[in-house]
Amino acid sequence: MIYDLYERDFGRELQRYGVTDFVPSEFATETGGVPPMGLWDNAMPTIVRIQRFRSYIGKPIVICTRAHGRRGYRDYRANNAVGGASGSIHMRFNAFDCTVLGLSVAETVEAMERLFPGRDRDLWGVGTYSTFVHWDTRGLLGEPAPARWTA
Ligand SMILES: [Zn+2]
Repeated sequence: MIYDLYERDFGRELQRYGVTDFVPSEFATETGGVPPMGLWDNAMPTIVRIQRFRSYIGKPIVICTRAHGRRGYRDYRANNAVGGASGSIHMRFNAFDCTVLGLSVAETVEAMERLFPGRDRDLWGVGTYSTFVHWDTRGLLGEPAPARWTA
């Protein structure tokens, strides 16, 4: 029931920000916990960039690659279940793991950097994994940025 409300109200929020290629379930799952409304503002800066990037590359982006709960938001329990870092930005609803269909991970990061100016990139956390790119805007949350890592 709470999850239904998330889908409805966060869907409106996505519309309000002009996010047309994604739906709420792509950013959070029931198994990852329902993102509290107080965290929604954290999600939007990253999601707006993902939407802009999606329009730029013209290819579908899948927000999720592995197990349930890996997608976007993770509550404390879900974060432990996927072996996430203890201070994971996913728990603040600001981080999303993205796979661009038809692009390698290296090509994805290259294209992200081509689209956005350096000053914007200074706000990001970007983790490069074998099958997906972790993307967050941690600098806007007051976290040390930029952060880059390869796993
Ligand atoms: Zn991640």
